[in-house]
Amino acid sequence: MTRTQPTSRGTSVCESQPPDPLGSLEVVPLGVRLDVPVVGCDAGSVRAKAAGTRVAMGESLVDGDAVAVAPADGRVLGVVQATLTNGRQVPAVSIEVLPTIDDNEDGAEPQLSLGVTPLPAAAAREAEDIAHWTSLMRQGGVWADRMVCPDLLGQFTQLARRSADTVVCNLVDDDAQLRLNAVLVQHGADLIAAAVGRLAKLLSARQPVFAIGQGWSAALRQPLEQAVGHINGRIVAVAEYYPQTAPALLLRALFRRPLRPGQSPVEKGVLLLDGAAAFSMGEFMVHRRAMLRVPLAVHDRVQGRTHYLLATVGMSIREVLNWLGIKAEGLVICAGHMLRQIELPADAVIAAAELQLQVMPMEPGSICGPCTRCWWCAEHCPMGVEPAWIAEAAHQEDPQQAERAGIGWCIECGICRSVCPSQLPLLLAIRRLKNA
Ligand code: SF4
Ligand code: SF4
Repeated sequence: MTRTQPTSRGTSVCESQPPDPLGSLEVVPLGVRLDVPVVGCDAGSVRAKAAGTRVAMGESLVDGDAVAVAPADGRVLGVVQATLTNGRQVPAVSIEVLPTIDDNEDGAEPQLSLGVTPLPAAAAREAEDIAHWTSLMRQGGVWADRMVCPDLLGQFTQLARRSADTVVCNLVDDDAQLRLNAVLVQHGADLIAAAVGRLAKLLSARQPVFAIGQGWSAALRQPLEQAVGHINGRIVAVAEYYPQTAPALLLRALFRRPLRPGQSPVEKGVLLLDGAAAFSMGEFMVHRRAMLRVPLAVHDRVQGRTHYLLATVGMSIREVLNWLGIKAEGLVICAGHMLRQIELPADAVIAAAELQLQVMPMEPGSICGPCTRCWWCAEHCPMGVEPAWIAEAAHQEDPQQAERAGIGWCIECGICRSVCPSQLPLLLAIRRLKNA
């Protein structure tokens, strides 16, 4: 297995030695195929380029309002259905990756492209206008939809109609094994701060806020403090326990602004993004590179190791694991925190959905006992929900009872299920009722 550090590939993300070496950020090489998710339309209405069409890196793979940008030179294979790492099913355009021919005629072997491309010159012009940036982000494929960074493109679209007075960059890692935000700060604090500062300026927002963990070392804080100082931002340390990074809890901790689960932070006057989104937007805003690859953390529970990666949009989890020397067969793959119970197929596609993956051996299913009404689930729920009554409501198929038990405030953190001595499938019951 050959691994290449980003610096040796001429990229800009790891130019300095991290002061607090949590881990390096490695670039996963391109394979032979990418399934590029289509944003903005359903499978039936995707107008993809015809199969066999050659596309250049950065070129659109679809016509109309939908968005899918080729992360590498390739040939269109067709439209498929893909599972993202947040569990959502979306259409995707498959491309066969083709080598990029070097024009220098120096006899060198053709190189596979890196999945990073400059934006077209016309798109690179300055514009202090949020609607224009929304349009640029769509062209660049910059979007995110994960627990700690809710629908970024949706937040931007809302900002064209209403204002936000605060930009918050959430850099808290609530899982000690998966410190993706901290690693990104080590490698790109300047990019993160530049992006957040630019967003605050675009919105005419007050001093931008960077939420970090209370346990951050001085060495880890130092590059962030320096970068944030340049944009007159503010660093706020918050508790790092799970699920503190859920937007509803984070905004409550920072500003005492209540946010209903599922509600956009913009409705509370806040644009919220995480470190990974800010890092990618920094590359986009500072270096004019479309976001065609994403930061990723993979925790291998078999070997007890965590890998921090930059993977190209459209790669499968299987491909990433193969490169790490991990065979997906016989393993369970979960996205996000373990308690959230988001299990993924190995063929799930990497995009800007959940960026934390955990792999572990399959275990035999547990046997549930009866509900003893011990109320541990309610006592530990961070949102004041009564999960036992929701499980009862699921059993009775009674959505009104579920509402009365507070299902609308559930952030699907899974803590209730983890503390239940009877191991009742509370989270599954909640999801089933929510999706009914
Ligand atoms: S998953 Fe359980 S513990 Fe978490 S918010 Fe919902 S009801 Fe509360
Ligand atoms: S923790 Fe489990 S057993 Fe106890 S009340 Fe909640 S659902 Fe019932």
